[in-house]
Amino acid sequence: MKHFPIFLALEGQAVAVAGGGEAALAKLRLLLKTEARITVFSARPAREIRDWAAEGRLTLVPRAFVRGDAPDARLFYAATEDADEDQRVARIAAAQGTLVNIVDNLQDSAFITPAIVDRDPVTIAIGTEGAAPVLARAIKADLEARLPADLGVLARIGKAFRRAAEALSPGRARRDFWAEYYFRTGPRALSQGGTDQVETALDDLLNTHLGLDDQPGHVAFVGAGPGDPELLTLKARKALDRADVVIYDRLVAPGILELARREARMIYVGKEGFGPAMAQSDINRIIVNEAARGGEVVRLKSGDPTLFGRLDEEIAACDAAGLDWSIVPGITAASAAVAGIGQSLTRRGRNSSLRILTGHDMKGLAEQDWAALARPGAVAAIYMGKRAARFVQGRLLMHGARPETDISIVENASRPDQRVIATTLSALAGDIADAGLSGPALIFLGLAPRRAAATISETIAQEFA
Ligand code: SAH
Repeated sequence: MKHFPIFLALEGQAVAVAGGGEAALAKLRLLLKTEARITVFSARPAREIRDWAAEGRLTLVPRAFVRGDAPDARLFYAATEDADEDQRVARIAAAQGTLVNIVDNLQDSAFITPAIVDRDPVTIAIGTEGAAPVLARAIKADLEARLPADLGVLARIGKAFRRAAEALSPGRARRDFWAEYYFRTGPRALSQGGTDQVETALDDLLNTHLGLDDQPGHVAFVGAGPGDPELLTLKARKALDRADVVIYDRLVAPGILELARREARMIYVGKEGFGPAMAQSDINRIIVNEAARGGEVVRLKSGDPTLFGRLDEEIAACDAAGLDWSIVPGITAASAAVAGIGQSLTRRGRNSSLRILTGHDMKGLAEQDWAALARPGAVAAIYMGKRAARFVQGRLLMHGARPETDISIVENASRPDQRVIATTLSALAGDIADAGLSGPALIFLGLAPRRAAATISETIAQEFA
């Protein structure tokens, strides 16, 4: 992030604009929404600027900006539509210590103005660091269409009611109250009877919520999917929206953690692959303690929580503590990885069953039904197989698997840095060692990437050649 978004308090502060044409007008239309003291410097100001000056909405100085002008300005816009003149005025303003924006010159600007969706006091700023103004405009149009025009009215009334709502205990009780106000009671009352009705509805709603008992704690075991936030289920998103506490592992992608409710407490109980790990008993204790305090605990696990996630031990701990729990399934790494190689996990005439294996278990390298896996056409998705590759290879060959059996390795499935490596059983261990895999990887026995995907992996293979 090269530009950090903030909301600047401009009430009563000076803002200066050099220029009087279209570029200046575009900025002034936004600035006039604030309560800043605006001064415009222009020898040839557009008609609107003269009108605004006549209405007392800004001060017009009918000449170019010079040294000593607007020394106390917080922000300065160089909008003269002349690159040399912009540089001249920007230098003066910057030397005075003012934050300067040069219109259409990202490089030399100390700040940039985002695209804005205005539902005052709800303001949404959209920035792309100049990379894609088209995208910013499209997002703005989308939000404009989606957010009710009277959201601002509801927010203003709600803000005045915050004090009263503090009668509810902080956390879930208050959140449920506000969610109901903004998404149900508020809009309905506003459309039926205007702002007066909204105020009455708020009083009634508060009384109803004060009567509700605090909810007991609950644990949701939620599948975070393989990494791409778009592969989260809607249920997982809702659980993250409601969470008071999120307990997560190392493999849960950062982009997914960002979707958790902002006030949610985030607790990392990550296990480093083969490195120091938090004991499962400690994780169980954290889950139980958090839920015992009441509120919604989301236990976020990569992929699907029911696969290689020690779910049963955590459920047993909840049961022992008398805590209510539920499971939200997720997309497992194998589903994402097989999509990445354009293949199917089962196929008529090839394999009517699929084996899901782990390369190692609590005792070390995991033994499997090698004879069945060694048969032609067998397909297996091997989780946690990086370190076990040589062992798996040896066992399979020993049980008569063909050395040329197809193998696909998919690292970081569904993530921007996804990588596919096509190999064969005989070359598996060597190729894994050469690939220098640093992300989570899934190994498919009996599947080759389809052609399109294979081309990608060939390029990668060349990189490693
Ligand atoms: N519950 C998870 C699996 C946890 S075990 C699931 O359903 O996916 C961790 C193993 O999953 C990793 O060692 C790796 O083999 C695999 N894995 C998880 N995310 C992955 C990803 N994005 N790409 C490839 N493999 C992944």
